[in-house]
Amino acid sequence: MTVRTRFAPSPTGFMHLGGVRTALYEYLIAKQNNGTFILRIEDTDQERFVEGATEVIYDTLRACGLNWDEGPDIGGDYGPYIQSERKATYLPYAKQLVESGHAYYCFCSKEEIDERRAAVEAAGGTWKYDKHCMHLSKEEVQQKLDAGIPWTIRMNAPTEGETSYHDMVFGDMTFQNSEAMDDMVLIKQDGMPTYNFANVIDDHLMNITHVVRGMEYLSSTPRYNYLYNAFGWDIPTYVHLPTVMRDATHKLSKRDGDAYYSDYIEKGFLTEALINYLALVGWNPGTDQEFFTLPELVKAFDIKRINNSPGIFDVNKLEWMNSQY
Ligand code: GLU
Ligand code: ZN
Repeated sequence: MTVRTRFAPSPTGFMHLGGVRTALYEYLIAKQNNGTFILRIEDTDQERFVEGATEVIYDTLRACGLNWDEGPDIGGDYGPYIQSERKATYLPYAKQLVESGHAYYCFCSKEEIDERRAAVEAAGGTWKYDKHCMHLSKEEVQQKLDAGIPWTIRMNAPTEGETSYHDMVFGDMTFQNSEAMDDMVLIKQDGMPTYNFANVIDDHLMNITHVVRGMEYLSSTPRYNYLYNAFGWDIPTYVHLPTVMRDATHKLSKRDGDAYYSDYIEKGFLTEALINYLALVGWNPGTDQEFFTLPELVKAFDIKRINNSPGIFDVNKLEWMNSQY
């Protein structure tokens, strides 16, 4: 089996260090297996799109030597995959799920949902979409479609039982479906897939073998597995990464000017030093070697030695390392 990994950022902000480290680990996992590393821009949420963010992603990956291996042909060069340009890909899959009962059309307007949510919350409950439209008959659905009422397609999530899966870093995970799942929107009113849906469809279509991403997705993974199972697709190997932190309790932050890749480049740090150090934030080489070139990292990296506790990004350590170059 050819190993295929993807870096799948949403261009909703500039490239932060956690993102660079995720991309780095994906690159290393692909390359050490003679596999393929893909870049996929997850930009279907156009409201959160940040102008210029995509270009920063390209520039950062290139500067770090993390070049992607394939994508649509853009005149002799490989472009990355861009989900908004693949919009037509996703609807047929959502319709397939409607056919099989794993999803349904929802015609609720935002106002109707807000009203029902307010009622639930006033009674002290926590709102989750209430499956209102799941109960519509096929004929009722067709009538509403014919009448041109705006619709979304929602996942018909299980409300009982649990979902277990294995993560290469965090081990065996189990979540209660009542907590981890909801009838999330798969296709939005504008015809765009949601991030959650496009992510699963593309990981399957692009034959991704190892899904490497931040640990904040551990609890969303049951929903993705529900979709994989609904299609009868193989679930990829999951590699969730602990958050990159400044210290035990603080995240790197925009306000403190220590979150973005560019913050460090502007301060004069060398990309090589940054990559070298980032590799070690969350991964233990098992030897006392501290300096690695990218090809050396490709050889030495081992998924089994990724830590499951937060990676502390110690700028003093980085400064020292940088001074050795
Ligand atoms: N688009 C998601 C993000 O920006 C990626 C999650 C994933 O890698 O599956 O965080
Ligand atoms: Zn509805």
